[in-house]
Amino acid sequence: MIDEVISKMSSEPGFEGCQVKVIEPPRSTLHTIKTCRKLCRQNRCGSYGRSWGCPPALGKDDENLEYINHFRHAVLISHRFENVDMKDLEFIEKSAEQHQDLCRRVANAIRKKGISDVLPVCSGACKYCGECTYPDAPCKFPEQMVPSVSGFGIIMEDYLQSQNISFKFEDNAFTLYGLVLYRE
Ligand code: SF4
Repeated sequence: MIDEVISKMSSEPGFEGCQVKVIEPPRSTLHTIKTCRKLCRQNRCGSYGRSWGCPPALGKDDENLEYINHFRHAVLISHRFENVDMKDLEFIEKSAEQHQDLCRRVANAIRKKGISDVLPVCSGACKYCGECTYPDAPCKFPEQMVPSVSGFGIIMEDYLQSQNISFKFEDNAFTLYGLVLYRE
């Protein structure tokens, strides 16, 4: 099933330059979730307390831990951009938003195969609605929400290295990563 989804999605518009592949699912711990939550509370990204897909809306550490670790499969969607002006924040933000949408599309493609227990996660807040309803009203499209990867205690650098995938910060290039987790 997943090979079919990956092959189909990889040839669809928007996935040019992307790599979509199966890897082992991440395993968060109370330590990683507490580490991530501490960073989230510092709110350097400006999303803390502003999205249903970010802390504190995501819920308590132990509940999130149990939830994120119950997934048995993971698909990594990555896209490397080269020769980038790293001061061009508009380009970087736009690319991140588009990447989040690719993760959402892969999640929806897996759902179409009859699997309902699917969670896409990406860096940053969910951007589906433009302006999130948090905290005034419930999430408008829970199935389309792409929560923050760090909200679930996934430290991408450590996780990718555990999968023999190099992760580095560069001067004129960057790679976007997203995950789709699911359980059949
Ligand atoms: S789907 Fe909309 S309401 Fe729900 S978390 Fe995303 S932006 Fe917020």
